[in-house]
Amino acid sequence: MPKTLTFDGPVILGAGLAGLTAALAAKTALVLSPTPLATGCSSAWAQGGLAAALAGDDTPSLHAADTIAAGAGLCDGEAVALLTREGPAAVRALAALGAPFDRKADGDFVLSLEAAHSKARVARVGGDGAGAAIMAAVITTVRATPTIEIRENARARRLLQDETGRVVGVLAEIDGELVEIHSHAVVLATGGVGGLYAVTTTPTQVRGEGLGLAALAGAEIADPEFVQFHPTAIDIGRDPAPLATEALRGEGSILRNTDGRAFMADYHPAKELAPRDVVARAIHAERAAGRGAFLDATTAVGGHFPREFPAVFEACQSAGIDPRREMIPVVPAVHYHMGGVATDLDGRASLPGLYAAGECASTGVQGANRLASNSLLEAAVFGARAGRAAAAAAEGETGDEPVSLAPLPDLPNEAFQALRKAMSRDAGVIRDATGLARLLEEIAALEAAHGPCPSLVAARLIVDAALARQESRGGHYRADFPEKAAPVRTFVTLDPVQAGLRHAAE
Ligand SMILES: Cc1cc2nc3c(=O)[nH]c(=O)nc-3n(C[C@H](O)[C@H](O)[C@H](O)COP(=O)(O)OP(=O)(O)OC[C@H]3O[C@@H](n4cnc5c(N)ncnc54)[C@H](O)[C@@H]3O)c2cc1C
Repeated sequence: MPKTLTFDGPVILGAGLAGLTAALAAKTALVLSPTPLATGCSSAWAQGGLAAALAGDDTPSLHAADTIAAGAGLCDGEAVALLTREGPAAVRALAALGAPFDRKADGDFVLSLEAAHSKARVARVGGDGAGAAIMAAVITTVRATPTIEIRENARARRLLQDETGRVVGVLAEIDGELVEIHSHAVVLATGGVGGLYAVTTTPTQVRGEGLGLAALAGAEIADPEFVQFHPTAIDIGRDPAPLATEALRGEGSILRNTDGRAFMADYHPAKELAPRDVVARAIHAERAAGRGAFLDATTAVGGHFPREFPAVFEACQSAGIDPRREMIPVVPAVHYHMGGVATDLDGRASLPGLYAAGECASTGVQGANRLASNSLLEAAVFGARAGRAAAAAAEGETGDEPVSLAPLPDLPNEAFQALRKAMSRDAGVIRDATGLARLLEEIAALEAAHGPCPSLVAARLIVDAALARQESRGGHYRADFPEKAAPVRTFVTLDPVQAGLRHAAE
């Protein structure tokens, strides 16, 4: 029998920017993090910063229009309006916690221009160090808040539900021991799905577990097929792959193949500044044709590299590459998940007692393709909203005793690595029915051998929806259906009984 404890406030699963912002907004909260704070989350690795209409010549409605254009027909207009309206206050709130944003002499934010933004609106820190600096400030505040309890080495293994399906807590593994934590509100803030792929820029701990846990509990999932690939991860055999920020192309760096030929003109008139998904497919095509792909920053950045892009410079140096003089080998890598647990604008999922925020949620704000630097903003804005709503619910609503169940199975490492390779091969930048069907067979074999592991369930959700979406839109490209069809979002609910029994029946 697992140990039982009752927490009188929301339990928050995950300690990235969404989870910690939710905790601060809830005021009283218990946060579970599988790793020490500031590690194991994408938030601390973010390079560019947060997009918000902070400049005198910018407005939330211009920011909203850019977000909707990038979202390729699937953004929820109300969610986008809210994100862009609350954006400037969210950035100022992080600055007030001590996030050391770059400032001009008059105190205004230094704002970078990023791809597909019509204005310079990305608040940054020390060039490419936004995530680490923002998280350091937030973590200091959280640690200084006595009503927020943090458990490190604590991972959610199953959502607890009462007879009616209401979420009434979580079964967690804390320091290797199972603990039933009873609470009237659980906030999922478990991040994206990058770890499900062999080539990713995100920490491998971020592997769709929250998505799988929610789906197995019967929560509605939205748009799982929409995965964003960053075109230029650095291909030096590291797992996860370090990122060569888009700003390098903004500065004029050129994409070349092994022969030194600049190839982007073959794919799009905007060349290196074409939309992220177009650049990712071009790099994928050059590599698949055996020509290779490299980012040449020797002229555009040259000697300024170590000062302007210290994180990228360090990654190159670790592999013996000097980007001031040599081309950087690049590969498209999973970077962001637009889909997630379907929520309303206060983070409420379809199951009572369950909330979700940040990358693991889908409010519809990111559509079929996220606009650069909108995701830290999403984590801050919707994390705070979910935290407040969950705190109110934890005070007012009650459920019954949970139905006691064992933890969900874990995918053994060898099987997990096989899944990652198969996902990168068949559910990557370019997809088709043959590859997706082959991948579904492999997932079914893993389910038969290992049962309904949350990360396996997350992979199935992505692949099932990718196979069903017979069109190309945003981050989802089907070689066999290259055109757009009607703009319809995906909403799916697993039958939890079926999902659990699939293993038993086979
Ligand atoms: C290299 C890189 C650069 C980026 N640059 C930018 C940028 O400049 N601007 C921008 O807006 N976005 C950027 N992004 C995207 C952005 O960082 C993320 O979308 C955002 O930080 C997500 O925040 P989150 O809190 O939802 O998730 P995360 O920060 O990923 O946190 C998820 C948390 O959940 C935990 N967790 C996972 N599973 C479990 C479980 N079973 N139980 C309990 N906890 C669990 C994780 O360990 C982690 O603590 C970048 C991403 C990467 C990888």
